[in-house]
Amino acid sequence: MRPVLLFGGLTEAHDRLLEATLRGFGYEARRLPTPDNEALRIGKEYCNRGECNPVYYTVGNLLKFLFELRESGVDRIEERFVFVTVGSCGPCRFGMYETEYRKALREAGFENFKVVALDQGRALTEELEEAGVRLTRPLVLALLKAVVIGDLLNDLYYRVKPYEVEKGDTDRWREQSLQKLEGALRAGRDPLPVLKEVWRDLSEVEVDLLRPKPRVKIIGEFFAQTTEGDGNYRLARWLVEEGAEPSVEPVVGWILYLVHQKALEVRIDPEGSKLQKLTRLAKLKLLDLLVRFYYARFRRALGNKPSPLKDPAKLAKLAAPYYHPRLVGGEGFLEVAKHLEAFGNRSADLVVSVKPFGCMPSTQSDGVQAKVVEDLGSLFVSVETSGDAEANAKSRILMKLYEARERALAEFEETKRRLGLTEGRISELLKRKPELRRATAVLPERSSVTAVNALYYLAGA
Ligand code: SF4
Repeated sequence: MRPVLLFGGLTEAHDRLLEATLRGFGYEARRLPTPDNEALRIGKEYCNRGECNPVYYTVGNLLKFLFELRESGVDRIEERFVFVTVGSCGPCRFGMYETEYRKALREAGFENFKVVALDQGRALTEELEEAGVRLTRPLVLALLKAVVIGDLLNDLYYRVKPYEVEKGDTDRWREQSLQKLEGALRAGRDPLPVLKEVWRDLSEVEVDLLRPKPRVKIIGEFFAQTTEGDGNYRLARWLVEEGAEPSVEPVVGWILYLVHQKALEVRIDPEGSKLQKLTRLAKLKLLDLLVRFYYARFRRALGNKPSPLKDPAKLAKLAAPYYHPRLVGGEGFLEVAKHLEAFGNRSADLVVSVKPFGCMPSTQSDGVQAKVVEDLGSLFVSVETSGDAEANAKSRILMKLYEARERALAEFEETKRRLGLTEGRISELLKRKPELRRATAVLPERSSVTAVNALYYLAGA
């Protein structure tokens, strides 16, 4: 009997699409719920002290799920379930996760529960085969596609949600889209036609893109910036409620970063022949190209509205005067590069960096971010997430958000004046360009403020 594969930790869209993909390949897979503060509490109870909080959230989340299984009378849990997770992302405490899982499971009475920690330095195939998963090429490609689609859906959702006219329309569209995509992935069908349908459905959502809102880029430590639960105080959704347009990072951006770092490592590795190095580099290049290919293909099906992918090599170059590209741990140079890029390209009005309490690499980046703020005059705020300092973190963000909103408004008014767009002229142009009321409107990216881009679109400037 094959065990049930438990997994989780990304966004709801990613986890649902990954679950559907695994089921499409005949695996019994189950995603864990988004980690919450109860998971954090359980994690703290069973793990060692002094860990950073993604350890507590993820370990606690697994234990919480297993306790619920046990309480509901499920037997032979250790035989019937396996947890698959990522084991290491660099020389920070993430590398300790596996040990923490084992310790916590033992102390919680699940001594023989199997955890497969996918460590980038070890053979994935061996680890997974032990858990009954054959990591075939079609499965890897299908999982990759699911992650890419999750990224694109999330990006699109946050581009539309702040501007919806009818409250809840974007959520309904998102749920419907996820269900359609899950169906296709479970049936092993090509998701491309479904994405085109999803895009057509989006045109049913009515929007008012002329509401001036600051765009807020969320960056930081990988877990803290990605999770949609208490681990970052449900930041993106809260920003929408506060009148901002959040801009979320794609998970594949992290994959491209890891590929880029691995290639750097291979190049300077004194071990191995030239041929071996070239082979390893070619494989990494292939993975890089595949990610970009799927992203570009699926993004096209979504009208090219979601943000394009960033090239980690270019980001490394951008960050180099501030942060050495070979300094590893956490997101390495990425945090600083994303901040520089957001203001250099005018793609955000405020950057919020979220990091778990006690995160060493992210704290190191923050030291450098102070210099970036000084050089760019950018709006930046860094907050620590500890599970219990929500009000404090949010009030710090609100102070910066106020400034960002003022700047966005000023730019909107100034652009209106420059383009000669009076209220009367705007209404007249809106009648001539009714597509601007549809969520599928694709605007020129001249400013970080969507409403300013909408003015350019209206004026044809
Ligand atoms: S990046 Fe920070 S929060 Fe994440 S595992 Fe490393 S030390 Fe912990």
